[in-house]
Amino acid sequence: MSFQPQLIFVDEDIADHPRTQRILERCPHSEVRVSPTRQLADPPTQNLSLTQGKKTLWLTTHKGAWFKKCPGTAGQVCCNYYIMHQGGGCHYDCAYCFLQGYQNNPMLQYFVNLEDGMAEIEAVLTRMAPGMLRLGTGEYTDSLNLDHLTDFSLELMPLTERHRNVWLEFKTKSASVENLLKVKPNGRVVVGFSLTPSEISRQVDHKTAPIEQRLEAACRVARVGYRLALHLDPLIRYPGWEQGYEQLLNDVVASLPLDQIAWVSMGTLRFAPEVKKIAMQRLPNTRIYTEEFVRDSDGKQRYLRPLRVAMFKHVQALLREKMPHVLTYLCMETPDVWQDVFGFRPSCGHSMGSLFDGRLVAKPDAHEPMLVQAVR
Ligand code: SF4
Repeated sequence: MSFQPQLIFVDEDIADHPRTQRILERCPHSEVRVSPTRQLADPPTQNLSLTQGKKTLWLTTHKGAWFKKCPGTAGQVCCNYYIMHQGGGCHYDCAYCFLQGYQNNPMLQYFVNLEDGMAEIEAVLTRMAPGMLRLGTGEYTDSLNLDHLTDFSLELMPLTERHRNVWLEFKTKSASVENLLKVKPNGRVVVGFSLTPSEISRQVDHKTAPIEQRLEAACRVARVGYRLALHLDPLIRYPGWEQGYEQLLNDVVASLPLDQIAWVSMGTLRFAPEVKKIAMQRLPNTRIYTEEFVRDSDGKQRYLRPLRVAMFKHVQALLREKMPHVLTYLCMETPDVWQDVFGFRPSCGHSMGSLFDGRLVAKPDAHEPMLVQAVR
């Protein structure tokens, strides 16, 4: 059954907003408390654990910037990704989720004043220099986990009709694609599915859609014309991981149209020390933290570099064998690791931008862009 929060806080100044009303209508069993309007850092209650917060939704307004460049990490290759906020928090409960140590309040938040965000982004896209901008919505939440309540995807997608210089990506561990199936996509909307071998996903991706359901959802959206992205992130070491990732990619090849995959990202498990501490208290059976890790220059723990490179090379070899025309890139890795894995070191900005831009050519019979052969 689709998620519904147990408790919903509503800022009083947006209690009558049509988006608020729509969400409340879709949550007939939730307790609703309208409370004085507050700042994000000052939530309507301080007395919730993270686990309770995941059952609580706060409908509020966003007063800061809606649009920003993905901050990346100093010393690591950034892939020129941009982010739009829709809210924060997530009712899924992945054992490695950075939000456990990042959020300043444990609740799910949804920003009801989306019209302000749309205006801000439209202005950016109108002023932008030639090129394509990749815009993601799943940085501080899962892009689609509340979509059945908010219709966020339906509201955002017309942006790609008005602006042909944006690729919009919904990144998810859900199978929540019902809204996406209601519209005919225009070729610039990408649905990104995070994938992990089932045996490890069952242990760490708590409350998310099982991998088979994500693949089924990917197949459904691809069938009506959406582009796909696959995020093999985090890559996780466990006994038999080599076979696990091979089986996962076999399943991808068997179930998805490969020519609709826009890109595949890879990133190994990484976490801030406090995330491990919090996760081990909340989810004590978690085993992923028992490997040996090093503290990297960004303060995050990662597998030792030779282990990371070995994982990337193994999975990259599988990708080249099974889907040779798909573009792959690394998330949050150093130029040295890129060199070891791909044999070249991109710089942030221009060369990474052109790696993605170079994938777009005009279809001879239509105005829509299509992907060309992978650079590497
Ligand atoms: S789906 Fe993403 S945002 Fe949600 S708990 Fe998992 S890692 Fe965190």
